[in-house]
Amino acid sequence: MITVTGESVCAGVTFGPVFVFSRGESKVKRSHVESSEDEIERFEKARKKAIGELDILYNKAITEVGEANAMIFQIHQMMLEDLDYTESVKNIITNELLNAETAVAQTCDNFVAMFRAMDDSYMRERSADVKDVSERLIQILSGKNKDAIVSDKPSIIIADDLAPSETVQFDKDKILAFVTEGGSTHSHTAILARMMNIPAMIGAKGALNADFNGKDAIVDGFTGTVYIEPDEETIEKMKAKKRETDKQRALLEKLKGKASVTKDGQKIELCANIGSVMDVASVLRNDAEGIGLFRSEFLYLESRDYPSEDVQFGVYREVLSKMNGKRVIIRTLDIGADKQANYFHLPKEENPALGMRAIRFCLQHTDIFKTQLRALYRASVFGNLAIMFPMIVSEWEVLKVLEIIDEVKRELSEEGIACAKKVELGCMIETPAAALISDILAKHLDFFSIGTNDLTQYTLAADRQNPKLSFIRNEHHTAILRLIRAVTENAHKNGAWVGICGELAADEELIELFLAMGIDELSVIPSFILPLRKKITETDVSAIKDMVLSKYLM
Ligand code: PEP
Ligand code: MG
Repeated sequence: MITVTGESVCAGVTFGPVFVFSRGESKVKRSHVESSEDEIERFEKARKKAIGELDILYNKAITEVGEANAMIFQIHQMMLEDLDYTESVKNIITNELLNAETAVAQTCDNFVAMFRAMDDSYMRERSADVKDVSERLIQILSGKNKDAIVSDKPSIIIADDLAPSETVQFDKDKILAFVTEGGSTHSHTAILARMMNIPAMIGAKGALNADFNGKDAIVDGFTGTVYIEPDEETIEKMKAKKRETDKQRALLEKLKGKASVTKDGQKIELCANIGSVMDVASVLRNDAEGIGLFRSEFLYLESRDYPSEDVQFGVYREVLSKMNGKRVIIRTLDIGADKQANYFHLPKEENPALGMRAIRFCLQHTDIFKTQLRALYRASVFGNLAIMFPMIVSEWEVLKVLEIIDEVKRELSEEGIACAKKVELGCMIETPAAALISDILAKHLDFFSIGTNDLTQYTLAADRQNPKLSFIRNEHHTAILRLIRAVTENAHKNGAWVGICGELAADEELIELFLAMGIDELSVIPSFILPLRKKITETDVSAIKDMVLSKYLM
């Protein structure tokens, strides 16, 4: 048995085979061939295999991300049928007697250069697709299957680290646990693991070993330990731990349908954070009172190109309809920093967390922003929609956003498209600046949602992606808690309500403080709803208020 330890980011115990995730970058080996006929046959076989793979991906994508997004795989198939492309590969093989991998790579370079030189921006973007298709062919030709990065049976995923764009591509039914050598507790992969409620650990130095592939393992997400080829004693111990966890979960089931009210009658709304339509099932299963944060950027990260207004409308409508009148807060695009999608072509920045991200990007690219707002307002008639804006630092940003919203609503009305009479508008409080001017911001908005993940990063000047700074990232820091209190007071004085949607909202130790401050809503990973409700129903706020306020705020 090999034991590797790290830091837990999501509790639970799971058993299963290991799948070691490697990015499998392909370097093309240039060589000469004796027979061009044989080499062309090899190319043809690879081409047919690629078309078959794309068929499978197309069908999978239709059910997971909808037809419009799935189209990209059909476009890739068309490229593989394109005579100019295939003839170019064959000509290089015949004329230069080069191997198929090199012929594909050369053709790819030529086509990319040609697409990039085109005036039409849509055609310029297609260069990324040529690269993608060619990479698929090269991987097949060199015996490394691109989609073999996705395990075909439920597995414990071990990786060095995972970008959000990689985690969203995993088939979620096939993930039993995440174990990463790098990562940090507030990385989006950690958040995704908690969202899926699967055991996860980071900082597991020594876990990324190709020899572990396929071996049986156990992840103990409570202690942050992975056991490779566990011995009998460990198996029995872990089975007992799993039985105990399952029992606790069954007890929490009894709280479903109950209100989140303290012993002395103070109510707090318990809502859920989601990243996609698929998470709504878990929201309903865990009896959340609404959705407090829909990270809409995941819709963009899952796509190969900007999701169209219709695609977004379909997604928002589905979430709103499924929530059946419960409030759904959708956060507008929070792209940038660790959340990157190639087609945005965001320039490389020295300090991306302090760079062109979120609302800054949207205010510079109003066409992209307006597409999202149009989709949101069109969907607003299908439920109880609220919209919020990420990374606000100034009043002028809020005023500009409100101006654009007026424009969008006017355009929709001129087109005869109905919108809901009332859509609550709010902003994230993720920066010290926003917290300090929250009295001014509250005059223009209905609510705030405090994003403690970024608020901690910016207040303590400690990168949330950097695991080495975890000793600095103390979310119970008096500065953070005082900012939360100030925001709550400013909001209430100016007629706005306040929620918390960062990871701190699920911190059971702080629930008494949040109740004492008068926070109106907490939005957490769905699986945290019932444990928090238990804690709330056991609390008597009047009895502890003064004590907790002075303990945490000094
Ligand atoms: C936050 O910053 O606390 C937040 C909820 O947003 P995200 O984690 O998506 O940056
Ligand atoms: Mg944030």
